[in-house]
Amino acid sequence: MSSVTQQPKYHVVCRECPVERLFEDGDEATDLERKHAKETGHRIVVGRVR
Ligand SMILES: [Zn+2]
Repeated sequence: MSSVTQQPKYHVVCRECPVERLFEDGDEATDLERKHAKETGHRIVVGRVR
């Protein structure tokens, strides 16, 4: 599949429910953040991990 690269990963976690996901793409992480916040009104945090 894809070659091994050192891409940053984004840890998306909701403070108010068990939603938690990892993304390699920051745009996808932001997309989940926005969608989840819009749908639920929850506070969701995007962190960066290595
Ligand atoms: Zn939530």
